[in-house]
Amino acid sequence: MSMLVMKFGGSSLGTAAALSQVLGTVANETGNWDQMLVVVSALDGVTDMLFEAAQLARIANQRGYRRIAANLRSRHLAIIDQLPLERPDRHTLRAEIDRLLSDVLDHCRSIAINLNEELSPAYSDAVVAAGERMSARIVEALLRQQGIRCAAVDGADLLVTDDVYGNAQPDLALTRKRVGETLLPMLSSDMIPVVTGFIGATIAGETTTLGRGGTDYTSSVLCALLGADELWIWTGVDGMMSADPHELPNARVIPRLSYAEAADLAYFGARLLHSRMIAPLAERQAPIRIKNIAAPEQTGTLVLTGKGDDAPSLKAVTSIHGLSLRRPASGSLAGVTRLVGNTLFKTLGMRSEVMIASQSATSSFICLVIPTSIGIDGVDRLQRAMIAKMAEYPEKMPWTIETVALVTAIGSDLHRAPRLQAQALERLGDIEILGLAMGASNCSFTVAVPASDARAALRRIHELIVKSD
Ligand code: ASP
Ligand code: MG
Repeated sequence: MSMLVMKFGGSSLGTAAALSQVLGTVANETGNWDQMLVVVSALDGVTDMLFEAAQLARIANQRGYRRIAANLRSRHLAIIDQLPLERPDRHTLRAEIDRLLSDVLDHCRSIAINLNEELSPAYSDAVVAAGERMSARIVEALLRQQGIRCAAVDGADLLVTDDVYGNAQPDLALTRKRVGETLLPMLSSDMIPVVTGFIGATIAGETTTLGRGGTDYTSSVLCALLGADELWIWTGVDGMMSADPHELPNARVIPRLSYAEAADLAYFGARLLHSRMIAPLAERQAPIRIKNIAAPEQTGTLVLTGKGDDAPSLKAVTSIHGLSLRRPASGSLAGVTRLVGNTLFKTLGMRSEVMIASQSATSSFICLVIPTSIGIDGVDRLQRAMIAKMAEYPEKMPWTIETVALVTAIGSDLHRAPRLQAQALERLGDIEILGLAMGASNCSFTVAVPASDARAALRRIHELIVKSD
């Protein structure tokens, strides 16, 4: 029995033309696999708009959030109108979109009434979840119209998560039970479940989200729990790139990565993959293919078990926000690490991962990674919370807190390649190095640099990767 899980990211779902590609891709693969499951993101840009609506609701800007809901409505309806659907289906689908958007307005209204200083993710999760709910309905209708047996499934009915709103963690044992009850019967009767990515729910049934880019995470959890043979991630770019192509236009596709390399790439900021998505697949290392929906003939990136290459080499360079803490004294780091851990968890729902810690006779330095799944304002929120916390202990904790960039070179067996590390460091030239660390998996090597030098550091290390061909 062969099974394929396919994830369609927002960039592969933006327009009616893109949706036709999705349809073609699913239709093509139905003959090649016994069972298939589809996981979808919201249409391109929709999640950002929903977040904005929730923010406007927080400041009771009723006109603002209503305007966004109206824009979302016309955008979805315009796409529906362009799709090859029968009239009754189109009609039902329109009604579904209206119902989902009316829920969005209800949630926004309740945010506006319960105004609080910071928008709590418990409120925004219920708002932003609508994006995936709308897109899953659209994909379902489109596939069904073409005679493909399928049904939209809400991730909130499948993924049982903790109550860390905005960055929830699925409980695999509880989720497995739901997957068994809901998805297995569908799969064994030749139906394709079209699951909303990004969304889960607490045991009490409150909607949660898995963090920005969380559809990857949904697809990897489902791939692992179903024991699927492969996971295909469809996006709008050609695959995992040697650097962020928005930053460095000469970035190129990495044809092959090991699981450990992909995990480090995701963790250290390659925005194409959610930072926690590789972990659920640790046991069953199903091959992951990352491909461009607009150019399916291209090979994309293949993530496989094993080491991949013989000679150590650098494959990619990433940059991600970090927060650094420094003080002009040495001494135990246990207290401050605990404090950082607690504040981090309270503010962002994130467990602390100290990335670099170093001490000398007269100073101490700690640096941690802020995952991109936290959203764009995560670093600022954390920095504010940390500074406020530190102010409670003025004498004990003379720590300076700053945002920094963590620039990471990814490749296999870097512990066996001091020359590569030396070359990368040499390239940095006059850029100040605040901290250094070798990744525990031997697949990454990170330097902390001032945030303003991130781009230059990226570019210089990337030159090394491009030159090594
Ligand atoms: N739509 C969500 C986001 O934009 C989840 C995803 O795309 O994976 O973050
Ligand atoms: Mg998205």
